[in-house]
Amino acid sequence: MLKKYVNMFREDMRYAMSRRCGLDELNNFIMLIGFIFVVIALFTHKWVFVLIGTVFVVLCYMRVFSKKLEKRKAENDVYMRYMGNVVRFVDYIKLVINMKIRSIRDKEYIYFVCKSCKQVIRIPKGKNKVSVRCPKCSATYIKRT
Ligand SMILES: [Zn+2]
Repeated sequence: MLKKYVNMFREDMRYAMSRRCGLDELNNFIMLIGFIFVVIALFTHKWVFVLIGTVFVVLCYMRVFSKKLEKRKAENDVYMRYMGNVVRFVDYIKLVINMKIRSIRDKEYIYFVCKSCKQVIRIPKGKNKVSVRCPKCSATYIKRT
């Protein structure tokens, strides 16, 4: 019974969020800046950093719940034009680190990211040196497993 209402609420939220801006790349960045200022405030005990941090966090929430999708998209496009390469590089590094952690946890497989198309590739462990072909872009790699 409760589950039904939780699901209904979730559907409502999903519907509401689908017509709002949500967390685009620019919002992730604004959130990060806000977070950095709050951390600085914690260490320096200066209220001015709390204020700056709060401004960024509020700005982020205003963009997340904004219904003016075209304006928000235009802002994000400008951001991506200047910072796109950095954003994509950071995402790539995050993915590589995640796959490294996953490889350590998984006893049977090694996970790595194709350098040219960012596809995640999984190969079995314990096969020594193998040549691996990316299924998406067919770049080949020599991997020690
Ligand atoms: Zn590839």
